[in-house]
Amino acid sequence: MTLLEAAPMRAIATPIATPLDDARSQLASAIDVLGYGSGLQSLLSTPRREMTVAVPLRRDDGSTSLFTGYRVQHNLSRGPAKGGLRYSPGVTLDEVRALAMWMTWKCALIDVPFGGAKGGVTIDPRQFSQAELERVTRRYTSEILPIIGPEKDIPAPDMGTDERTMAWIMDTYSVNVGYTVPGIVTGKPISLGGSHGRASATSRGVTHIALAALRHRGISQHGATAAVQGFGKVGHDAAVFLTDAGVRVVAVSDQYGAVYNRNGLDFTRLSAYVAATGRVVGYDGAEPLDGDALLELPVDLLVPAAVEGVLHEGNAARVSARIIVEGANGPTSPAADRIFSENGQLVVPDILANAGGVLVSYFEWVQGNQAYWWNADEVEHKLEERMLGAWQQVVEYAAARDLSLRAAATVLAVERVAEAHLLRGLYP
Ligand code: NAD
Repeated sequence: MTLLEAAPMRAIATPIATPLDDARSQLASAIDVLGYGSGLQSLLSTPRREMTVAVPLRRDDGSTSLFTGYRVQHNLSRGPAKGGLRYSPGVTLDEVRALAMWMTWKCALIDVPFGGAKGGVTIDPRQFSQAELERVTRRYTSEILPIIGPEKDIPAPDMGTDERTMAWIMDTYSVNVGYTVPGIVTGKPISLGGSHGRASATSRGVTHIALAALRHRGISQHGATAAVQGFGKVGHDAAVFLTDAGVRVVAVSDQYGAVYNRNGLDFTRLSAYVAATGRVVGYDGAEPLDGDALLELPVDLLVPAAVEGVLHEGNAARVSARIIVEGANGPTSPAADRIFSENGQLVVPDILANAGGVLVSYFEWVQGNQAYWWNADEVEHKLEERMLGAWQQVVEYAAARDLSLRAAATVLAVERVAEAHLLRGLYP
């Protein structure tokens, strides 16, 4: 080819937006509404502290594997950092940064005195024995020990971790400091100082908010139809609670596929099947369905309760649910948000919809600090009251300023964090 010949056109790949891009774009929109300058924007979009650690594991067969672990503290202006710990092979530092930022807004929105944090280890927990997961958890905990503590940063369960993981973290931390410290984690077993209602708190909160959203749109909960993506800690109980409330949950999915029954799923049978097989696929009380097709079912309510980024520019126009209640963190991209808004679909954002988990984590922390435990009814009553109070506040704020629920929730939260930051001032 001579210099005068045209060079062949190179395809320009469209970069795929990451959860961190989405989180930063949501923050930028809120900053626009609030009229803050670029200095405050940089401060709020950057984590205060992050730690990356190597997590070596001695396998049961004597060999060694190595994983990477992260802990990110996004903001500490309103109190100690608070956020879940995720075990998933897809965990990246950027994902953990995004999840930590959403935790900051969630804690501020629901008005609990915490900043936001998140942790993760790049491991698929399904591939390892309980003994191996215990060793991974204890090693990860001892690596991040310098930056966690009941007054510094308090982990909780997220994808791939549960109350047993929290018990191992509590024990490792306590052994290291020399005395028992229940307040180092929330989402612990009740026998170790966990709170009644914590295990199902996120799902209860999602259900309260979903029912409020149905009422808001004039749809009766009795006979309304729903689909739930993700059948783990959040999705499973949300599907059951929605069914208890009279909603017809016609489809659920997990990472392996989905199942559909137009008359509504029988969760007593389906849960027993999943407990035995580890997946929804193959359940004989429903038809098989493609996992992605679940998102496009003609239902009143869609609850994404699995991973980030599942509702995006490529599928949003085909999503016909009238209401989307985000059980997962970050399931909707900003481009999908715009499409849903143009189509008149109501999106209830994660920082409001799934805040029940961190709210009852806060109750657990308060109970632990006072060494005085509340009963299940007290926890449920306070959860409902606080969730519906936050819902009302966001709905009114959105209506008064002509904002989407996501924009209203983010603006409210960012304003609270910025105010705390400005009142404290910048050190030195
Ligand atoms: P989990 O590990 O208990 O369950 C995750 C579920 O999602 C599993 O059923 C898994 O098979 C399924 N899944 C994974 N990838 C999928 C895919 N591509 N399509 C369909 N299903 C898929 O996790 P969890 O604690 O239920 O968390 C789910 C979401 O809720 C995450 O976004 C998490 O950050 C968020 N969340 C959890 C809590 C909590 O208290 N556990 C609180 C707030 C938000």
